[in-house]
Amino acid sequence: MITILPQTDKEPLNTIGYCAGICWNSPVDDKEKNVKRAKNCIKSGHGRVAEYPDVFCIIEGYSARCIRELYTHIIGTTRLQSSTRYVDAKNMDVDKEFYYPFKDEAADVYRDGLKNIMETYTKLEELGYAKEDAANILPLGMETKIVWKINLRALMHFMNMRLCTRAYKEIRALSLELKEKLRALSPEWEWISDNLFLPKCEAAGYCDEEHSCGRKISKKEMLAAIEEWQKIH
Ligand SMILES: Cc1cc2nc3c(=O)[nH]c(=O)nc-3n(C[C@H](O)[C@H](O)[C@H](O)COP(=O)(O)OP(=O)(O)OC[C@H]3O[C@@H](n4cnc5c(N)ncnc54)[C@H](O)[C@@H]3O)c2cc1C
Repeated sequence: MITILPQTDKEPLNTIGYCAGICWNSPVDDKEKNVKRAKNCIKSGHGRVAEYPDVFCIIEGYSARCIRELYTHIIGTTRLQSSTRYVDAKNMDVDKEFYYPFKDEAADVYRDGLKNIMETYTKLEELGYAKEDAANILPLGMETKIVWKINLRALMHFMNMRLCTRAYKEIRALSLELKEKLRALSPEWEWISDNLFLPKCEAAGYCDEEHSCGRKISKKEMLAAIEEWQKIH
C-alpha cells in the first residue's frame, strides 16, 4: 500500500511554471499561465525544471526484494527504511506479510520454507542472540516499509523503467499503484500521470530492450527504417 504524504506538492505544474517564469522575467501570479509554461518546458525536454516538485510517500506491503530494486534509483531520491535491527520479526504472519508469486502446491512449498526460516529466527533469539543478529536469516520476500522522497524528474525516469514489461511484476505493480495514487491527488497530477508516467517505449516511441515484448518497434528496426527512408528521400 502506498500513502501519499501531505508534504507532496499538489500543484507541481504551477511550481514548475512559477520557477521557470522567474527566470524569464515573466509574470508568475497567473496559475493557468504557469501550468502552460510548465507543460511547454517538460515537452521541450528541459528536465531540470521537473526537479522542483517532490513526492513524499510511505510504501508498505511490498517485499524487501522489490524495495531493493527501487533502491537502484539513486538520483533525485532519498528514503528511510524499517529497521531490521530494532523491529522484531518474530511474529510475522507467513500468510500475510510475505510476497507470494506462487499458487497451489508451489505456494505450499514456499510457505513451508518461510515457516522454517521464521522458526529459525525465533530459535536464534531464544538462544540469546539480538534481533539484529537473528535478522540475517530473513528472506527477501518479507514485506517491509519505507518513507520515500523523489522529485518529479527522477520519478518520470523511474516510471519509464519500471512500467516496462521487462521489469519484475511486483515493482511494476508498485509503480502502477503510485501512478494511480498520484493521479487522484489533483488535476495537475492527473495530467502528469497520463502524459509522463509511461513505460519507456511509450515515451520514446521505440523499444531499446534486447528481449522486447513487441509492443513497440525495436530501436534496431526503427534505425533501419530511417536509413531506408533516407535512401529514398
Ligand atoms: C528490467 C530491469 C532489469 C534490471 N536488472 C538489474 C540487475 O540485474 N542488476 C542490477 O544491479 N540492476 C538491475 N536493474 C537496475 C538498473 O540497472 C538501474 O540501476 C535502475 O533501473 C536505476 O536506473 P538508473 O541507473 O537510470 O538510475 P537513476 O537513479 O534512476 O538515475 C536516473 C538517470 O540519472 C543518470 N545517472 C544515474 N546515476 C548516475 C551517475 N552515477 N553518474 C551520472 N549520471 C547518473 C542516468 O542518466 C540515469 O538514467 C534492472 C532494471 C530493470 C528495469
